[in-house]
Amino acid sequence: MIQKRGIFMDNYMERTENYVLHTYNRAPVVFESGEGVYLKDTDGKKYLDFAAGIAVMGLGYHYPGFDEALKAQIDKVIHTSNLFYNVPLADAAERLVEASGMSKVFFTNSGTEAIEGAIKAARKYAFLKGPKPGYEIIAMNHSFHGRSVGALSVTGNPHYQEAFKPLMDGVRFADFNDLESVKAQINEKTCAILLETVQGEGGIYPADKEFLEGIRALCDEHDLLMILDEIQCGMGRCGEMFAWQTYGVQPDIMTCAKALGCGVPVGAFVLNEKTASASLVPGDHGTTYGGNPFACAAAAKVLEIFKEKDITGHVRQVAPYLEQKLDELTEKYDCLTGRRGMGLMQGVVVGNGKTVGEVINAARECGLIVISAGSDVLRLVPPLIIEKEHIDEMVQKLSAALDSLQ
Ligand SMILES: *Cc1c(COP(=O)(O)O)cnc(C)c1O
Repeated sequence: MIQKRGIFMDNYMERTENYVLHTYNRAPVVFESGEGVYLKDTDGKKYLDFAAGIAVMGLGYHYPGFDEALKAQIDKVIHTSNLFYNVPLADAAERLVEASGMSKVFFTNSGTEAIEGAIKAARKYAFLKGPKPGYEIIAMNHSFHGRSVGALSVTGNPHYQEAFKPLMDGVRFADFNDLESVKAQINEKTCAILLETVQGEGGIYPADKEFLEGIRALCDEHDLLMILDEIQCGMGRCGEMFAWQTYGVQPDIMTCAKALGCGVPVGAFVLNEKTASASLVPGDHGTTYGGNPFACAAAAKVLEIFKEKDITGHVRQVAPYLEQKLDELTEKYDCLTGRRGMGLMQGVVVGNGKTVGEVINAARECGLIVISAGSDVLRLVPPLIIEKEHIDEMVQKLSAALDSLQ
């Protein structure tokens, strides 16, 4: 049931392949606009979006007041550099500190840069303790932290790393949710333990409560910094502003990006008082764009909307219904073999002779956008503003897609 694409769509796809470096195998669809929780392609076909631009569009498309805030900032000033103060920087930083209960923020342009900054802050913290500073970082297998060389070095996926070695020195890997394996990697050179609170790209694995508490205890015992990567699972996706808040376990450093700007590229690493007061100082770290007025106007508005509209409360209200419906689908279809996740970050395992790629393509034909995580997980990370009716529509479209594969 492959639908014929219009001539415009073919033209955009062809020119993209002609001129853009081929690092992605893109799905054959060209999106032109979005509204709420829907996307429209250049042929005018409408799709229910359960991918949200990879967990970025937390507020969906054109959330009331968001575009207006961006446009207002464009009319004032969009960039000034970090050599000066600007208005939205103060607003965004204050709101992020308030939302996290942490102490200081550094704004970046992406998630991978937030990870880079977190690594540097951790190493500087250890350096200041001297005289034999620790520098090793313990990261997790099947983790994902980004594609720059530093972030790639702590990404526990040999497939991504292979062609780019040697990577950054001083990284050891342990198994997620296996505290003993983490303990086994600690030595006098260790300075930090880095993990996603809920592993995203690796296949949607939430941390066990005992595991997260155990990591916190290990860090306290050995004076190591606990770095939580909240780039995907943070910003309300798991039912609190940050997933660690649902566990009651506080990191020393947190990274944030994806939904922080709801489509405007902005990331951040956030430090607690202990780390902020004994790590990076002027000259240690910088960025030309990072924290510019436009990006910060986006982050400040997003954080304002989250607070005023109680977006996390909404997530806690609709997420159980999504879980229930996904469990019913898993029950009904042989090729769906399990579900796991937290809040509106859900993964359904595909197997029994069907691949996740087939399911994604069939879903798209049926007007539903979903993506994968790991090799066999269907990832559902919709805009956080979805209502029950959208979940019902997702179920109906995903069922049609699965039926078409029988
Ligand atoms: C997406 C992601 C990153 C990388 O963010 P970019 O903005 O793509 O650089 C890092 N960590 C996690 C957990 C992510 O999901």
